[in-house]
Amino acid sequence: MTVLVLDHVSHAFGGNIAVDDFGLSIEAGEIVCLVGPSGCGKTTVLRIAAGLEPLQQGRVSIGGKPVADAAHRLDLAPEVRGLGLVFQDFALFPHLSVVGNVGFGLRQMPGKQREERVSDLLCQLDMEEFAESYPHTLSGGQQQRVALARALAPDPKVMLMDEPFSGLDPALRGQVRDQTLHILKSRGAATLLVTHDPEEAMMLGDRIALMSSGQLVQIGTPTDLYIHPVNAFAAGFFGEVNRIAGTVRDGAVLTPFGAIDVTRLPEGSDVDVLIRPEALQVKEIRAGTRPLHQAIAVAARLLGEVSIVHLQVESGDWAVRHFHSRMAGSVLPRENAVVEVSLDQSRTFVFERTRDHISDATE
Ligand code: ATP
Repeated sequence: MTVLVLDHVSHAFGGNIAVDDFGLSIEAGEIVCLVGPSGCGKTTVLRIAAGLEPLQQGRVSIGGKPVADAAHRLDLAPEVRGLGLVFQDFALFPHLSVVGNVGFGLRQMPGKQREERVSDLLCQLDMEEFAESYPHTLSGGQQQRVALARALAPDPKVMLMDEPFSGLDPALRGQVRDQTLHILKSRGAATLLVTHDPEEAMMLGDRIALMSSGQLVQIGTPTDLYIHPVNAFAAGFFGEVNRIAGTVRDGAVLTPFGAIDVTRLPEGSDVDVLIRPEALQVKEIRAGTRPLHQAIAVAARLLGEVSIVHLQVESGDWAVRHFHSRMAGSVLPRENAVVEVSLDQSRTFVFERTRDHISDATE
């Protein structure tokens, strides 16, 4: 069931357009992560959904009913929209204990039921032992778990979360993020979570909405965005890419590691070829064989579960000669060894070079 819908939403601050004809819908129990570079309009979208920013253009519906509609001058207050809100700065009530904070939105509920709801949430978040503690005695991670429990306590239809983990140190962030994923999935709210971190979006999102300059660039599963990016900006946002320029000739574009068929662009099109590091697979050259494509491994480093091999291409007329290969396991050719390189075209993307793509890619 579709719960949250934003439809043709636009917003400007003074003359500056912050959100430009933006739309998305979120199902019950679904987590959608809204990502994009700083200033692209993520927080403004979330604040419009929450009713914290007056709607200028478009429509917002929750549970099939409009809560804001610019055409009808409707703009309901946040507290009647049935939302749970979580922000970066926990914003707990300092004079209330953990139980007081989590139960704050449940004052209308009979005492026994309220106690059970609060205790259930604290248990799910491993916070029962801190039930009587006050916020100033808790760590950042513990405070954020209390803020999450407080937002979830009234069983909101929609959860809106703005950079909820960015105030936490990296070790704690992973743990709180993991608990947040599981509790959100167990409660069934439609969640819109704003983050600037692509990895966080891929870890948490059932779907990811990528924004740039106020507009929705692409929405889909993490796999869609990683494997089928719609443009160079989307490809570069979700992982490192080796980037070379080329021109379509005879239905293909040349790279130092072989030709890539390009049937959907006209002859002579200038293109950007983006090669994910894991698309470049490196092998030792066996004695007596002549590899199709080779490069010099100028450096190699083990990064835990993967190795990064820095490749230098010597022959050919390539403006870019330095490439990164990412290989599973410990693959560490000796410095300056000549290695065989093969290209996995399913992790290689070709986009027509347009002014938009160039400016997107450098955002
Ligand atoms: P960040 O990741 O840095 O928080 P963001 O993607 O959430 O950025 P927004 O905070 O939505 O972006 O801002 C979008 C644009 O609107 C930016 O150019 C920002 O400077 C501008 N903006 C946001 N809030 C206001 C405001 N209250 N007054 C004027 N301009 C604003």
